[in-house]
Amino acid sequence: MPIKEDEGIVLRSQKLKEIDKIVTIFSREHGVVKGLAKGALKFNNRFGSSLEPLSHIRFIYYDREGRELFIIKTAELIKSYFEIQRDPKIFNGFSQMVELLEEFLPQKVKDEKIFRLLKACLETTLKGIEIELSLLYFKFWILKASGFLPDLRKCKRCRKEKGGYLSTSMDGIYCYDCAKIKTLEVTEFTGKFLGFILKNPPSNLVDFPIPENEKIRIENLINELLLHHIERMPKTLDIKK
Ligand SMILES: [Zn+2]
Repeated sequence: MPIKEDEGIVLRSQKLKEIDKIVTIFSREHGVVKGLAKGALKFNNRFGSSLEPLSHIRFIYYDREGRELFIIKTAELIKSYFEIQRDPKIFNGFSQMVELLEEFLPQKVKDEKIFRLLKACLETTLKGIEIELSLLYFKFWILKASGFLPDLRKCKRCRKEKGGYLSTSMDGIYCYDCAKIKTLEVTEFTGKFLGFILKNPPSNLVDFPIPENEKIRIENLINELLLHHIERMPKTLDIKK
């Protein structure tokens, strides 16, 4: 059994029998992996407490060839994000991120970019940037990284950059003059905001204030794009219609 060392962010942690845990970890080197932590729930156990959801950990494990679950031997906490999750809004925001990660990333496929994305969103939220913005940022980038983000700035027909409406096939926008179906509006502001996200880390979101109506519009737009590309509705994805 090859022994491996990695770092990762715990996505899920569930009790198995009396003292064991099954833990899903988004690891830096090996992508989303699932492991068994034997004895993790023994009283006063630091090993177990480092395996709480959203903990950033370093861990050593045995990979059992051909088996879905590996065995987590040791885990050491690098950083805990336990405190921020007491806020139900933040908890829900990160639950959405976890569910989208599992939806978009195949198991055991390394994705350094998305790993850094999740970490940056945790850090940004810890610094006090509102969870709605971190979540928008995360959703936008997961669409982009999966190749599902159309050009939302230029009209598909006349190439003007003045906003317009999302096309029904969701592969771009048509401007106010060219659009025939006018349901999901993408304003010029939306285009600018998304351009800002492309060029900036989430911590810079403080420099780009968004009016409340635009925020709702952008949320709807991103959610529609996500739903268009995933087969089932994520349980945590709160879509107001
Ligand atoms: Zn046009």
